[in-house]
Amino acid sequence: MLVKEKLDVLGGTRQVIGDALARLGYDESYYELLKEPLRLLTVRIPVKMDDGKVKVFTGYRAQHNDAVGPTKGGVRFHPDVTADEVKALSMWMSIKCGITNLPYGGGKGGIRCDPRTMSFGELERLSRGYVRAISQVVGPTKDIPAPDVFTNSQIMAWMMDEYSRIREFDSPGFITGKPLVLGGSIGRESSTARGVTIVLKEAAGVLGIPLANARIIIQGFGNAGSYLAKFLHDAGAAIVGISDAVGALYDPNGLDVDSLLDRRDSFGTITNLFPNRITNQELLVQDCDILIPAAIENQITEENAHLIKAKLLVEAANGPTTPGATDILTQRGVMIVPDVLASAGGVVVSYFEWVQNNQGYYWTEDEVNDRLTKILVDAFRSVHDASVAKKADMRLSAYMVGLKRMAEAVRWRGWV
Ligand code: NAD
Repeated sequence: MLVKEKLDVLGGTRQVIGDALARLGYDESYYELLKEPLRLLTVRIPVKMDDGKVKVFTGYRAQHNDAVGPTKGGVRFHPDVTADEVKALSMWMSIKCGITNLPYGGGKGGIRCDPRTMSFGELERLSRGYVRAISQVVGPTKDIPAPDVFTNSQIMAWMMDEYSRIREFDSPGFITGKPLVLGGSIGRESSTARGVTIVLKEAAGVLGIPLANARIIIQGFGNAGSYLAKFLHDAGAAIVGISDAVGALYDPNGLDVDSLLDRRDSFGTITNLFPNRITNQELLVQDCDILIPAAIENQITEENAHLIKAKLLVEAANGPTTPGATDILTQRGVMIVPDVLASAGGVVVSYFEWVQNNQGYYWTEDEVNDRLTKILVDAFRSVHDASVAKKADMRLSAYMVGLKRMAEAVRWRGWV
């Protein structure tokens, strides 16, 4: 370990980056360069609200490293967004792009706001104001945004339109996650869950768990969790547990996934309809073969890691397992497929969208899914092989695989 830092999100990320670079044999100068984004732009965005008053929002755009190619990563709208969080998320994007061999470095953006309390018009003015504020540092060959927490295809459409007006030409390749009619890619919406399903199948194969009869718990029933429940149920697995922000449902004989999908609301809530629900924390420690956290961060900690029954933990959510819990689970022989690998399907199909925009030629759903499968199967195998060869846990080996190409690009460019 090169440097011991405080274990917040940014500190935790730096620590794994430091460990991975040291295990790869790179000297301290690589860590000094890669422990921080190359650029962090902070912007203030004045927005005329519906009541006629002006409210000024703070936004960020972090660009971790562009040695490999333009930076790429989502924009989140959330009241708790901080500069450190955006910086750490941009570093995770670098790792995801490295593992999947995309020609990008990592980027990330965020605006401190609560979109749940804002009108459609206010959200449009905020989205357009953000693009005006960051327009000099982003672009199809510089830094390409995408959706993230509480942002969607409508917001991407407004942002693309604003950027195109500023540049005075149509620029679909400026942003991904757009609606299909504006150059979005088929399969983008379900791409994260499809990617999780692909790597989960690979990991289950390594552990000898047949997917057809596997008992699976999924925490979270939003975009990622609901598509996952559908894909895995259709593959023959029994979804024995699901949850949302209100609570959780568990049935060892398998839940009726189609009926739950039909009845959930647009925020991914369903368990409020069931008086026999349990808590999220109770759900995580129920009996199952595979556990998939697909909701929020820091759910599996040193408090509950020793109680987890699953043999395989697949992190669809970003940062659901703390470093202490990772150590406990690894020592107990639980395989962890880390977030930077498991949830990389979204950025891979974002890359496909950008390629299609650049070519002006659009692919079929089968072409998208076949290419996604090939990339993620290769990614899983590289990370798993590195984990066996270097005797490292899957998270550390994912960082080693993800950082290697960036470190080499930095070296060839003569930056260190
Ligand atoms: P979402 O907002 O669509 O759904 C979130 C789900 O989690 C909902 O069912 C919600 O009820 C539940 N939830 C919220 N607070 C909770 C709590 N305190 N306890 C338990 N459940 C809670 O979000 P999403 O897009 O499905 O993302 C879920 C996770 O996956 C996030 O960590 C996100 O960063 C990660 N992820 C998503 C994508 C994507 O393309 N959607 C890509 C990469 C990573």
